[in-house]
Amino acid sequence: RLELDAALATSLNEEQRAAVEAGEGPVLVIAGAGSGKTRTLTYRVARMLARGVPPDSLLLLTFTNKAAREMLRRVEELAGGFADVGRLMGGTFHHAAHVLLREHAGALGFSTAFTVLDREDSRDLMATCLAERKLRSDKRFPRPDALLELVSLATNLQQPVSQVLVERRPRMLPVAPEVFATARRFQQRKAQMHLMDYDDLLAHLKRLLEEHPAIRAELSARFQGVLVDEYQDTNRLQGDLVDLLVGERRNLTVVGDDCQSIYSFRGAEFTNIIDFPQRYPGCGIYPLTRNYRSTPQVLRLANAVIARNTRQFPKALVSDGAPGPVPQVVPTRDVKGQAAFVTERILALRAQGQRLESMAVLYRAHLHSLELQLELARHGLPFRVRSGVRFFEQVHVKDALAHLRWVHHRADELAFKRLVRRLPGVGAASTERLWTALEALPPELPLPQALTHPDVLAHVPRKAQAGFQRFQALMIRLDAGGPRGPGALLADVLAAREAPATPDADDLRAEDLRQLQEFAERFEDVPRFLSDIALVSEFSAQGALDGEMPDDVLTLTTVHQAKGLEWRSVFVLGLVDGRFPLSLATRNPEDEEEERRLFYVAVTRAREALWLVYPHTSLPREDGRMLLTPSRFLAELPVGPDAVCESLPPPEPDGPIRVRELGPDPEPEP
Ligand code: ATP
Ligand code: MG
Repeated sequence: RLELDAALATSLNEEQRAAVEAGEGPVLVIAGAGSGKTRTLTYRVARMLARGVPPDSLLLLTFTNKAAREMLRRVEELAGGFADVGRLMGGTFHHAAHVLLREHAGALGFSTAFTVLDREDSRDLMATCLAERKLRSDKRFPRPDALLELVSLATNLQQPVSQVLVERRPRMLPVAPEVFATARRFQQRKAQMHLMDYDDLLAHLKRLLEEHPAIRAELSARFQGVLVDEYQDTNRLQGDLVDLLVGERRNLTVVGDDCQSIYSFRGAEFTNIIDFPQRYPGCGIYPLTRNYRSTPQVLRLANAVIARNTRQFPKALVSDGAPGPVPQVVPTRDVKGQAAFVTERILALRAQGQRLESMAVLYRAHLHSLELQLELARHGLPFRVRSGVRFFEQVHVKDALAHLRWVHHRADELAFKRLVRRLPGVGAASTERLWTALEALPPELPLPQALTHPDVLAHVPRKAQAGFQRFQALMIRLDAGGPRGPGALLADVLAAREAPATPDADDLRAEDLRQLQEFAERFEDVPRFLSDIALVSEFSAQGALDGEMPDDVLTLTTVHQAKGLEWRSVFVLGLVDGRFPLSLATRNPEDEEEERRLFYVAVTRAREALWLVYPHTSLPREDGRMLLTPSRFLAELPVGPDAVCESLPPPEPDGPIRVRELGPDPEPEP
């Protein structure tokens, strides 16, 4: 405890200490990036423990499991000597709701052994509900993912599905009655079967607290302190849950930065943090004004970025750090050049003694990192893609690739089985039999003859006939196409997907596959494409087989997943208008401000060195390269004496560059 006191005195500045030592009651810390909000929260927890608050009466909420683990580790370091930190309830909102519902779901008529549905399961269930209403095959009807998204938004915003549909998904209006009926059915089915998806965990907990005052009283008596990090990204439902849990005691600490609110597309309301003083009158407000993360150069750039937003809580932020290099804006020839530039810089930094784990590459969407993943693998640079699965290892991506693999290499047993197993009506046993029959045929037999050979057909289960025929047809088409590139082949595969790609922006998998196809267009021959991708996969499989990745690993991450984290050297990629900001997000000023906050989150991850990189032109096409427009966020950075960055010149052209033709000027207003 003495050590903790010493740490409080030496490891915090006065502003931070004031927030840590604030007495009971509501506390709001609203401050800029890197000002020590998370650190302050951690110390506040440790101090409460030091003052004898039992660990199991504290609830510490954050947005990702990783952030939660990190904070608990820090609390353990500070308070582990005198408190059993393992008993503290810390984690994501979903985690906490899950634990509490396991105790109390009975009151809602649920079995406490309820099953939690992951995203995949929910999707299957939604697909079943559609099938029951015979809407599954109607191509104009929204896909299961789009419906899930809608239901999820309604839950998180705490609004009726009808309102969300009208306000946020007007495209669904023509089929609204059927959408409502399906959504209702989906909810009923879950309740009947004692299933909860992620959103239900929160929604049911809220209902429990509202409808059962005794349980609510018990829980708010249990939690003597509730603390929330990244409060700006809570949505209505999460905000309400926190309010219900803290109860009369109002012993709530929230920290956040409205300028880093980046989840409004999922219903986050940064008004939660702005309006906190109204909801908790008399709360203590603790500003933090020193930035400990970044050099003054990085911070100057970050401040220039966010100054463009009109909607924000005014905050001052000054750097505490030693000066460092001026951030660089780097145009490269194209996306390949971008991957090469980043790889080269990373190799150079490593040669100077910097560890890979102190570097990160950030981008708006995973697609922007595919070239880089290949380039890093070619150079043997170990990397980890945050947010779990690497792009090429996702099931649906592997499934699509399996078509190309098998057509090009008929002995690829894994690819064949992967494809056949997915066919409706084919089980594991028939998959084996089909493969054995196929393998027994002479290898020189052309693919169409092999797939229609009586020995093979004999093993197709009767109920799988239709599916197998579609499979045959597709494979024969892929095989017949003559020398075609991987892009063209994948286009065929996508066109033959069970749910033909109605352009539905909400269907994430279709989007992944479109990205894969677009990426494949960059390759001329299939073997090269497949071997490059295999290289990336093998590269990561190696790590997985050895039990763990090498301990010094580079991070690749979307900006969303980088929230709250920091690295010594940061690269932000793909800063092209339409990609970052996404073109979808520039249709109205609010969305554009959210994208700018996202850019602000990106640049404030850097401690020392920051590179803002973009491809100057597209990859070469028959008629030359196309000029790309740098991100408007780069164009907004001040130039001249107030410049906050150093802009490198674009590379010399290696051929004709075309400029996208602009349409005629709009007619002047009369
Ligand atoms: P973000 O807005 O990105 O979540 P934050 O406000 O939560 O940032 P922290 O992550 O807590 O900021 O702190 C940023 C960095 O500054 C960390 O490396 C932290 O250790 C360091 N830091 C914070 N306060 C101090 C301090 N008083 N003395 C030294 N270093 C500090
Ligand atoms: Mg933080």
